Amino acid sequence: MTNQRSEQLFERAQQLIPGGVNSPVRAFGAVGGHPFFVERAQGPWLFDVDGNRYLDYVCSWGPGILGHAHPKVVEAVQKVCERGLTFGAPTAGEVELAELICTCVPKVELVRLVSSGTEAVMSAVRVARGYTGRDKIIKFAGNYHGHSDGLLVKAGSGLMTQSVPDSAGVPAGYAADTLTAVYNDEESVRRLMEENSGQVAAVVVEPVAANMGVVPPQPGFLEFLRRITREQGALFIFDEVITGFRLALGGASEYTGVSADLYTFGKIVGGGMPLAAYGGRRDIMSCVAPLGAVYQAGTLSGNPVAVAAGITTLKILMDDIGIYERIDRKAAKLEEAFRKAGLCVNRAGSLLSAFFTSGWKENERGGKVRNYGDACQCDKEAFAAYFNRMLARGIYVAPSQFEAMFVSDAHLDEQIEMTCEAIAECGNILK
Ligand SMILES: *Cc1c(COP(=O)(O)O)cnc(C)c1O
Repeated sequence: MTNQRSEQLFERAQQLIPGGVNSPVRAFGAVGGHPFFVERAQGPWLFDVDGNRYLDYVCSWGPGILGHAHPKVVEAVQKVCERGLTFGAPTAGEVELAELICTCVPKVELVRLVSSGTEAVMSAVRVARGYTGRDKIIKFAGNYHGHSDGLLVKAGSGLMTQSVPDSAGVPAGYAADTLTAVYNDEESVRRLMEENSGQVAAVVVEPVAANMGVVPPQPGFLEFLRRITREQGALFIFDEVITGFRLALGGASEYTGVSADLYTFGKIVGGGMPLAAYGGRRDIMSCVAPLGAVYQAGTLSGNPVAVAAGITTLKILMDDIGIYERIDRKAAKLEEAFRKAGLCVNRAGSLLSAFFTSGWKENERGGKVRNYGDACQCDKEAFAAYFNRMLARGIYVAPSQFEAMFVSDAHLDEQIEMTCEAIAECGNILK
């Protein structure tokens, strides 16, 4: 396996781009070695510039539920491009995409399109503040909501493998209004609510956490959050940038049976293009300009090319609802392979993570990951060794312990089998 071209590109990239990458986890900092540069992708495969092929379980960090370069999505994008790339004026596609989102997630009555998940959550929080007239928000340690200032407090994802726990450059004043609770710990939320009574605008949560590795909510946890936000006059925000259209067509609210006041979507909703959305109850979303006093805008918002990719992706999912059963079943096979290898596995639908909890070598099944503290205890060196062995076998999992493994509809059963064998072999060698 040669990687000469990738090495040369990375050398050049580092002269010009911070760390050689345009998003930190891509740099392979947590696993050693250098990133490969992608030339193209098809179905479940990534091909790098040196001609190597990888079975891809990152799927662009979530959007790729159909696999790469789905012919219908590519065709829709090509067709719309011919009519112009951006107009800064309304298009029919935006209306259609809004209708599709509201149909899939019925609690979303009004929805605004934006260009990234970061923007979606930042805007939803602003709306919650505008609506309630309160400043504080509660988030959970290890939940990632994008890189806006107020949300980079105890955030998960790439921040978990940086030497600084949180970002420099965030004024203390922003952090002061962001209160951090422990995921799956009701008492930690109750305490913050009591200490800040009448001041909390919203509780924002990843309904199934997937940025500290996958950590599903314990039974009753989301129901508790729904109840306490209602009692305290705070809004409840589901950050469904990963879980939306992934756990089910209706996202986490369909999957868990709990619903929120505001929702954020990204990743799948853009079908691989830069598009995201936030929406929810009509009375709350009516605060958004030009209807209301909460300002939020975007030159490229509702971009026609991105909208075409989003519409086509959602339609494919709606027309083939069996997809969810298929990807869940494949993820369950991987889950079983990890468990047999002695690892702690968390899975929700087609999202899963294997954790190298202490004791995994002895096959001690006690290790559980229920929150950020548990996740941080994991053996990162063992993870790095596992990552590199999988990569050498042509299987690309996220280059960090704290990311999800994404299964797409393009992953075939035989490829899942091959992955299970690789997992078993890794388990044996690493012990
Ligand atoms: C990826 C992610 C975001 C940020 O989305 P970007 O498009 O990367 O800005 C926000 N919330 C969650 C839960 C995410 O997984």
